[in-house]
Amino acid sequence: MKELEARIQSEGHVLGEDILKVDSFLNHQIDPNLMQAMGNEFARLFESQGVTKIITVEASGIAPAVMAGLALDVPVVFARKSKSRILSDEAFTADVYSYTKQTTNQIRIEKRFLSASDRVLIIDDFLANGQALLGLKALADEAGASIVGAGIVIEKAFQPGRKAANEAGLNNIQSLARIAAFEDGQVIFVDEEK
Ligand code: 5GP
Repeated sequence: MKELEARIQSEGHVLGEDILKVDSFLNHQIDPNLMQAMGNEFARLFESQGVTKIITVEASGIAPAVMAGLALDVPVVFARKSKSRILSDEAFTADVYSYTKQTTNQIRIEKRFLSASDRVLIIDDFLANGQALLGLKALADEAGASIVGAGIVIEKAFQPGRKAANEAGLNNIQSLARIAAFEDGQVIFVDEEK
């Protein structure tokens, strides 16, 4: 999505080897117009899939997920993160390891918000190592729901997330921006590779 790539180029900051900071429009301050454009694009990409529910994980997945939910006219459920491993009969749970924060969080969705009759679209802000995506897939699998695919705002295609998701059987992954590399602090998109 050209508009998103332009914003990444003008406002993104590369931190260290592999982290992109985009807190002026996605991860801290949020640009609602850009979020809406992205939601519409996700809706266009998945409109033929019979989506009944969108799931994401707090906090940064919520804004794009809500806009996609608005465009597809379906409810949005965000998995809550908790440090403690609360066992509950009322929630689906999965463990998600964060390479960026080097911590494991449990993510959880109440059972009453996800069922076997759902056709689920997963939305998230970044695809890096794929742990968040696999955790969300695990919640949908526990519910017995069908997963139609995943919509990602920014994919770091040089990291193994897509491969890990594909190997776990999650194949229809649509990313609005795909980053091939960071070179000298500059972002190179997949379609610009030499
Ligand atoms: P995963 O490694 O599980 O695919 O990514 C987990 C989460 O880490 C993403 O949902 C995102 O919130 C965060 N993350 C991963 N890489 C980046 C990055 O380069 N920049 C930012 N802002 N967040 C990231």
